[in-house]
Amino acid sequence: MNRRDMLKGLVALAALAPVSRLSAKAGADGDKSSDVAKGPQVARRPFRNTAQTVPLLGFGCMRLPTVAGEPKIDIATVKTMVARAMEAGCNYFDTAYMYHGGESERCMGEVLKAYPRDSFYLTDKMPVWFAKEEQDVERIFKEQLERCQVEYFDFYLVHSLNAANWSNAKRLKAYEFLSKMKQEGKIRRLGFSFHDTPEVLKEIIKAHPWDFVQIQLNYLDWELYRSKEQYEIATEAGVPVVVMEPLRGGVLASLSPEAMMILKDADPDASAASWAFRYVASLPNVLCILSGMSKPEHLEDNIRTFSQIKPLSEAERETLNLALLAYRKKLAVPCTACRYCLPCPQNIEIPRIFGIYNQYKLSGSKWQFNGAYRMLPEKARADACIACGNCVKHCPQKINVPEMMKKIAQEAK
Ligand code: SF4
Ligand code: SF4
Repeated sequence: MNRRDMLKGLVALAALAPVSRLSAKAGADGDKSSDVAKGPQVARRPFRNTAQTVPLLGFGCMRLPTVAGEPKIDIATVKTMVARAMEAGCNYFDTAYMYHGGESERCMGEVLKAYPRDSFYLTDKMPVWFAKEEQDVERIFKEQLERCQVEYFDFYLVHSLNAANWSNAKRLKAYEFLSKMKQEGKIRRLGFSFHDTPEVLKEIIKAHPWDFVQIQLNYLDWELYRSKEQYEIATEAGVPVVVMEPLRGGVLASLSPEAMMILKDADPDASAASWAFRYVASLPNVLCILSGMSKPEHLEDNIRTFSQIKPLSEAERETLNLALLAYRKKLAVPCTACRYCLPCPQNIEIPRIFGIYNQYKLSGSKWQFNGAYRMLPEKARADACIACGNCVKHCPQKINVPEMMKKIAQEAK
């Protein structure tokens, strides 16, 4: 190992060190370490260079437990899970306006009011696509404070920015309104969540002094979804990263049998999910990793992982790489997003289309596929392919691009 790698390892180790005894509140925004802390504690990371610390494991409130056979949230189980999370120092709760049709905000408000306001972080998001006029942004924000029964949000995001939502946000002056809320103390940290290309991310990140950004990041998307580039853009801009989809919607918690065997051979006791979490946690600019937890067992497994989390060693990275290669064989298109095939004379974003298609085949969500596919410029979709074959000559994966474009165009009809 050379000196540079060794230093990198030391930085990663320092960033992963658990806070063994949670400290008393400190710093301007308070180090919301819980006073009810008992037993194993999840690792914490400092917010930029402040005394504020954030748990590396964040409690995603998008898929809360529901009453058997009903869409209704099982509030008793949520209460038990929140109590357990608080006890383990996992005190970052991430909700949004439309999660559970608005019931997630209401439920979290109801459950968290039992705790001192300065003992937890509550994160919410502005869905700009629900707002038609500037006043709607203010109306939604007030409604969120009421639903959550709080006076302020610790972290707040402009939700799900892509090129279209970004232009909506600008038209509605969402940033201007939200930074006014920040000045008034109703928002402590202001960021955005993101779903688009690194090029769009660069534009948004440069536009304002954001406190943090939330991106989709996991070892499968590192190349496939260009998450590596997104992580690097945020890091270069000095903006901390909150991670969503660390398990790619649960896919990385149960890989193909061949890939699972590679991981089990290397460490029989480690779950596939813990490998995925450790991969993301090894990145020093990651502030918090969100995990949507629907069952107490998920929370227990996560507390176990995050209270003794270690960066991946070189040998473990190799193992994960082998598992990834085995798993990728399962993908509909083995595209690595290397972009050697570009530019296409028809301006077709070949790797982006394959990324969207693979995501669809992994998740099975046609609704999501339609949404992502229709965001592509009409003239640069799969049906614009003239089968010139230029791309095929450059593709190291030997993908028959024109044939795949034809197939995708048919499925997108
Ligand atoms: S074959 Fe289709 S996708 Fe490939 S370069 Fe030609 S037009 Fe573009
Ligand atoms: S060259 Fe092949 S693998 Fe690389 S981005 Fe293009 S289609 Fe994907």
